[in-house]
Amino acid sequence: MSASPSWTRSQRSSSSAFNCSKSRLSKFGGNWNLDAVTEEFGPDGAAALDFYLAPHSDDVCFSIGQLAHSRGAGMLCTVFTVTAYQAGRRQLVADDIRATTRIRIAEDASFAQRCGLVPQWLSFPDAFARGQPPFDAAPAGEVARQIAEVVMRAILAPTIGRVTHPRPWLFCPAGIGGHVDHLAVTTVVMDNIDRLSPLYRIAFYEDLHYASKADVRASGVTRLKELAGDRSLARRVIALADEAAQLSKMELVRLYPSQLTARIDSIEAYSPAVAPPAMPHEAVWVLQDDMHHLPG
Ligand SMILES: [Zn+2]
Repeated sequence: MSASPSWTRSQRSSSSAFNCSKSRLSKFGGNWNLDAVTEEFGPDGAAALDFYLAPHSDDVCFSIGQLAHSRGAGMLCTVFTVTAYQAGRRQLVADDIRATTRIRIAEDASFAQRCGLVPQWLSFPDAFARGQPPFDAAPAGEVARQIAEVVMRAILAPTIGRVTHPRPWLFCPAGIGGHVDHLAVTTVVMDNIDRLSPLYRIAFYEDLHYASKADVRASGVTRLKELAGDRSLARRVIALADEAAQLSKMELVRLYPSQLTARIDSIEAYSPAVAPPAMPHEAVWVLQDDMHHLPG
């Protein structure tokens, strides 16, 4: 897919195939408080080598789908692919794992195709399939140890023998929401950051829809900064400033119907809860060191 030259104003939403009513689009005010809409995530020479790390299918789409759509290239790696989770279901049935995993891989494949990403699925079971409570963060370190070697191999494999300037981006979850699988992936990246930084610019995306709740987001950002230790992080915003961009984001979100409920089927669920008035947006936290190496 070719990249849009105007990445904050996507022209690619096909409203004819989209049934989002205007009233559901946004309850946000019009006086945006996000003064810096950064351009560094627009397409650049390294976009084809970008690496999008998703704990579960849908995490990249929900969190930074518009960013991925705008850059229009790279690799999408889903870590905990094996799952029986579908939105609205509370009971885990063993036979559901195979069927649900197939459904979710197909949803991922549609999103990847729409965004020009090459998909890859690692075969780890998610918390639900492991029989662990998803929001008990205590086992995150142990889970990180179990997945680290395979995840690092996936991230590093495309870098063998290549020299790129600028470095491509590695987009990974910030762990907001405290889902044990998200935190495990965040931990793997943090633990290996010295190894990864020469190869990738690194951005931790605010996990949506979790980050759409102010208290959840606040504690999640605090934990991310603690995990980063001495490294300072800068927040960068991908604005969904106009209706076309919001429609485009929701069109991407709806490529994952197995994960949607009425409660999270509006743009508010896919925008971080910063102090109002805030325009719909996506957000990432970038290592300060990488801010000194931006293209252009
Ligand atoms: Zn997830």
